[in-house]
This record gives sequence, C-alpha cells and structure tokens, in this order.
Amino acid sequence: MNMDREDYLQLSGIQHYAFCPRQWALIYLEGQWEENVLTYGGQKLHRNVNRSEFTESRGEMIISRSVPVFSDRLRFYGIADMVEFIGDDVNGVTVVNKPGLWRPLPVEYKYGQSKRSSCDRVQLCAQAMCLEETFNIDLDEGHIFYGRPRRREVVHLSEGLRQETMQLAEEMYKCQSLGMTPPPMYGKHCERCSLVEACVPSLAKRQTVSQYLDRML
Ligand code: SF4
Repeated sequence: MNMDREDYLQLSGIQHYAFCPRQWALIYLEGQWEENVLTYGGQKLHRNVNRSEFTESRGEMIISRSVPVFSDRLRFYGIADMVEFIGDDVNGVTVVNKPGLWRPLPVEYKYGQSKRSSCDRVQLCAQAMCLEETFNIDLDEGHIFYGRPRRREVVHLSEGLRQETMQLAEEMYKCQSLGMTPPPMYGKHCERCSLVEACVPSLAKRQTVSQYLDRML
C-alpha cells in the first residue's frame, strides 16, 4: 500500500457501518469502544484464529492466516482472518514458493450465529474484492465460520452483494471526508449495541443516512 492512501478506511469497519453508521463513526472516527459480551467473544475468537501468523499446507490446500489486504476501488485496507488457497491449475494464481496454481477462498470468523442482516456478508465481500484486485482474479464465493453453532456458511458473491458493499464503502468514505458522526437511528438493533449508553439513541430525530449525507453535502 502506498503512503498516499492515508485516507483509506479499515475494512473491518464495514460490518459496523452496515449495522449502524453511527456505531461505526463512534468507534472508527471518534475512537469510542464499549465492550459487551458479543464484542468480547468476537475478539477472543479472532485472537485464536490469528494466533498463528503463518501459512500451512494441507494436501491440495494452502492455509494463510492474518492476510493483509487492500483495495483501491473500495479505499479499504485490513487483515483477512484466513485465506485458503485451493489447488486449481485452470483458474488459480501463483503462490510464493509453491508450485502450481491456487484459487483463493476468503474465510471470515465470527463468534456468534448467522444473521439475517448482511453485516457479515458485506465484510466478507469486501475481503473478496480486495483479493480479486490483488490477484487480478474473479471469485464466486467466500465462507463465514460461525462459532455458535460451529458451522461454515457459503456466501455467493452476487452482483447485488457487491453493489451493496461498494455503496457502503462510498458512504463511509463520505462520512470520513466530512469528519462528522451520523445521528442516532433508534431501532431494535440498539438493544444489541455496545455503545448504547454513549449514543443515547432514544433522543434521535428519525432520518436515514442518505438523508443525513445529502444534507451535509
Ligand atoms: S445505540 Fe443504536 S443508534 Fe446508537 S450507535 Fe448503537 S445501534 Fe447506532
């Protein structure tokens, strides 16, 4: 990553922005962080995944942990929990010190259970788009490993999911450029928010993020 990309955003923030733009801004723009049982569990799981920063081979698969990624298109940088490189001599890419071609598959680890909202899927999609840009390759899917219950979910990288990811990345960039935290948007999601006390969402006036951004711009 060149140093002129200083305004790039942390990729992991997109899951917070998709959950609530204000939560993202409070954490990433204002530096507030309140730990609750969900965030603590998530950090513990990531510590376990990221404990071994190395690459290992398992038969027709190479597993890389804590992989640095970035995208000029999304203006993101970050760390992918795990990328599996699966032997594929037709559609694969080269991997340093490994003969043959290998197809990357991003795997994101989550502490909780699968959600109806797209928060986790847009994060995975952003990681996949970073890998596509890095390796100049098209990917069809990624996986999310959930801790409760322990299982993998296959995520198809559809055009709709990609559009949603790009839209969120664009909004995040605009918010950062404006240097302003979106107002609270009170809803059921506030009950699961670790920043509810700092945010005081019940005092909010109802408006959407688009309305807020339009007004600020
Ligand atoms: S309390 Fe609600 S509005 Fe406030 S940051 Fe959390 S989710 Fe967003």
